[in-house]
Amino acid sequence: MSLTRKRALVTGGAGFLGSHLCERLLRDGADVLCVDNYFTGRKDNIAHLIGDPHFEAMRHDITFPLYVEVDEIYNMACPASPVHYQYDPVQTTKTSVIGAINMLGLAKRIGAKILQASTSEVYGDPTVHPQTEDYRGNVNPLGPRACYDEGKRCAETLFFDYRRQHRTRIKVARIFNTYGPRMHPNDGRVVSNFIVQALRGEDITLYGDGSQTRAFCYVDDLVDGLVRLMATEDAVTGPMNLGNPVEITVRELAERVVRLTGSRGALVRRELPADDPVQRCPDIGMAKRVLGWEPGVALEDGLARTVEYFRRMLRERGSLAREAEPARAGG
Ligand code: NAD
Ligand code: UDP
Repeated sequence: MSLTRKRALVTGGAGFLGSHLCERLLRDGADVLCVDNYFTGRKDNIAHLIGDPHFEAMRHDITFPLYVEVDEIYNMACPASPVHYQYDPVQTTKTSVIGAINMLGLAKRIGAKILQASTSEVYGDPTVHPQTEDYRGNVNPLGPRACYDEGKRCAETLFFDYRRQHRTRIKVARIFNTYGPRMHPNDGRVVSNFIVQALRGEDITLYGDGSQTRAFCYVDDLVDGLVRLMATEDAVTGPMNLGNPVEITVRELAERVVRLTGSRGALVRRELPADDPVQRCPDIGMAKRVLGWEPGVALEDGLARTVEYFRRMLRERGSLAREAEPARAGG
């Protein structure tokens, strides 16, 4: 690592958001250390970065201490899809809580700035809509989502206590549903599920009646928000909502994916998972005011790019439905 470049540590750097963040930081001229235990992340996500002299990948679980020298820490490590974070809920809480303690301890020891990838899930099933940062949330501490929601809430507490007690320079981003290339095809999140199902010619699974809402942010916009938040002066800590405030129902999302892919699959209903939030949409007034940030990629464009990514992946695996191949001129 050089002495003149900024040195950034990205935990969870081989995951969906983390790998895009590593790429962006390298483009901005940083030395990047990617740390991941590859639970939900994949080496494929960072394969194109290996060989870059300013990039280094390290297999490590952040529930164990880490001793490295960096200037900035982006703490992204944590499974993010309900299927994955509920697979081993105790490990999910450990990653959020013990992982935060380890990364905050590192930041304190070396004087680094540290940003936490928190989540809209801290608002639970919200009774305030859209969600503003001062809303304290409506989380069920005993339900199947609690390992993630309460883990992330405790991590936020730790961040603010490290700031009060040790003057650690912290930033907390509350990330709302983000999608794009490199989502795991089997991670169960709605955008990847719908696109993969559509491209395979399978039925599209609506949980409940599909009237629940979400607001979807394209990955490049989100990463830009994270980088801008990290660059703010020390007085800016957040928590700050980052997401795209265009709210749609899950059913509308399914219909758009069907239109984009030409899928012949039907929309079929499945049981709604416990504690699934009824509505979610960020108020991004603070991010606009403080960072001069707002998303620029429309859902239609972001979905089209994501469809292309999964189309290529499924074609390589031989599981693309014939009708999902784009029509060829003269063909
Ligand atoms: P992801 O599952 O693709 O990435 C998480 C990464 O963390 C993976 O590479 C995984 O292997 C790694 N990881 C998990 N536990 C670890 C541990 N103990 N030690 C080291 N590495 C570990 O998910 P993502 O969507 O990229 O999410 C990244 C972060 O952003 C997460 O903290 C998540 O909670 C947060 N977030 C994401 C979204 C979203 O919509 N994508 C929304 C809100 C918050
Ligand atoms: N969902 C769905 N079908 C799927 C996957 C998810 O209807 O195949 C719904 C899910 O019940 C939720 C929304 O889509 O209401 C978003 O789910 P996701 O797991 O992507 O993220 P969440 O916002 O719930 O964490």
